Amino acid sequence: MKVLSADREWLAWATISPSSQIRARIWSWDEAQPITEELIRSRVAAAVAGRAHLAFATNGVRLVFAENDHLPGVVADRYGEFVVVQLQHSGADRYRRVLIDALASLPGVTGVLDRSDPDVREGLSPRSGTAAGATPPATVDVWEKAEKLRWSFEVDLHSGHKTGFYLDQRHNRTVVASLAAGRRVLDVFCYTGGFTVASLAGGAQSVLAVDSSRPALQLAARNLARNHLATAELVPANAFDYLRSLRDTGRLFDLVIVDPPKLAASAAKVTAASRGYKDLNLAAIALLARGGHLVTFSCSGAIDAALFQKIVFGAALDARRDLWIEARLSQPSDHPVLLTFPEGEYLKGLVLRVG
Ligand code: SAH
Repeated sequence: MKVLSADREWLAWATISPSSQIRARIWSWDEAQPITEELIRSRVAAAVAGRAHLAFATNGVRLVFAENDHLPGVVADRYGEFVVVQLQHSGADRYRRVLIDALASLPGVTGVLDRSDPDVREGLSPRSGTAAGATPPATVDVWEKAEKLRWSFEVDLHSGHKTGFYLDQRHNRTVVASLAAGRRVLDVFCYTGGFTVASLAGGAQSVLAVDSSRPALQLAARNLARNHLATAELVPANAFDYLRSLRDTGRLFDLVIVDPPKLAASAAKVTAASRGYKDLNLAAIALLARGGHLVTFSCSGAIDAALFQKIVFGAALDARRDLWIEARLSQPSDHPVLLTFPEGEYLKGLVLRVG
């Protein structure tokens, strides 16, 4: 439909989503270019072409990153021969068939799975199942390589988090690997072992990994085995409590990774989430040996990089330790941020050395 200004001047072409807080999403700012199936096909093709350079680095790639690819509320991740899609609102649902057909017809794709799960659906009923072609097996293999590193993961596309895996941490896995040699590593919120595998592949002396999800830890164990890595201590626990109990044992680590779930789901939750991030980072800093590194993340879009840095600063102050920012981390090139859509920037991380 058309979006008009208050004085009835033409503004944009949008889809309407009555059940979403975002009632209208703009697909085109060009009056001569309404939302057509052809437009959608060309945008999918452009998004896919923008990721072509990643083909040598991995078979797990975000092909479509919603508003950032001018396909509002549409996410598509490729895992080898399968594509997993998430459609977040009724405007995207309306073009479901053309989107799925465009993805299903990509070279080498044999099946498209719809994972429009409750947590991404803005007031609409969830939908999941095979949308085109073959149904993915219980797990699929995802490999990544960078310079001398290469690892692979078993990924559960049917019930794994997001579309199955944290593709957005791909580059940061290599950063962690580069910090891990000879070190005692603590991987907090390890999920299926992305940073645990990276640490051991980078030569870590030991890894203690914590997550509250037992199925995730089972997959983490399999991911260590398939990469022929030493085993890690995989602990099912609530990370907040577990970090406190670790402190009582006096055990120290040289590299601590903290990658919690999105604590601030919206702007209204920023205050409570800030406390959560501060508690976690304070506990993590207390477990670091002298000269150790903290690699800490927030994937809450509502907490920007400046606020995140302030929160970690508060934790360092309370811990009474000096910390230096050695690097700032973000999302990889298949999760690009469109300059006119700064909301697309959600993942931020800090690499800090502790005195
Ligand atoms: N670091 C992971 C991604 C972490 S996602 C990777 O790179 O793949 C966040 C993880 O936190 C999920 O695996 C979820 O199971 C876990 N989680 C959520 N709440 C938790 C809690 N209170 N204690 C421990 N783990 C928790």
